[in-house]
Amino acid sequence: MKAAPDAQKRLLDLAELDSVADRLAHRRRTLPELAEIDESSKQYARLATQVIEAETEAGDLAREQAKAESDVDAVRTRADRDQKRLDSGAVTSPRDLASLQSEIASLHRRQGDLEEVVLEIMERREAADSKVRDLVARRDETAAARSAAEDRRDAALKEIDKEAADVQGRRTGVATEIPADLLKLYEKLREQYGVGAAMLRHGRCQGCKVALSIAEMNRIKAAPHDEVLRCEECRRILVRTPESGL
Ligand SMILES: [Zn+2]
Repeated sequence: MKAAPDAQKRLLDLAELDSVADRLAHRRRTLPELAEIDESSKQYARLATQVIEAETEAGDLAREQAKAESDVDAVRTRADRDQKRLDSGAVTSPRDLASLQSEIASLHRRQGDLEEVVLEIMERREAADSKVRDLVARRDETAAARSAAEDRRDAALKEIDKEAADVQGRRTGVATEIPADLLKLYEKLREQYGVGAAMLRHGRCQGCKVALSIAEMNRIKAAPHDEVLRCEECRRILVRTPESGL
């Protein structure tokens, strides 16, 4: 393939711009915020599940407390009713009186026991409610941290997009100065090797960093200026410049 030396040199500008574009694409994929957001999302899901579990437990205890309080009320109502009967003087038989007094005493003991149960449930419920508040706070903090990381990611992406658009614009300009067949070869090599063209600098290919043999250098020296050369080692287009050492 033949191409004017200036057009060949423009390949180096193109390769430089492509390498900038590659670095930008790599930065886009490896933004630290992406891992941060991923980790926050996982943590949020874990905490959200724990909040639901803690809320269920607190709800169960609230129902348990209501049930125990209603048991206390029932016993108290029954004791009050018995006490009223006793106070009314309607019961006169000593045996019935003794039985009534015994029942009242038994109901009071029962009420005391049930009130202990209520207190015990209330303590557990306070602990459960406090756990819910703690988990909700941590869940909300995680959501806020994720949202902040998303904002930082978006700002970084916007910056990268701006730079990428700038590089793309310059690339389009450079590409117009390169003949179609040479550009096509460059694109094919870029696809295959990541970089399509490299400078020959002080007898060394800048693509693979391999020094050319004396025979190879002599072959290049003898080659016409518009001959499109390839590195024997890495197959990239080898571009001659005044720095080539020819
Ligand atoms: Zn090479």
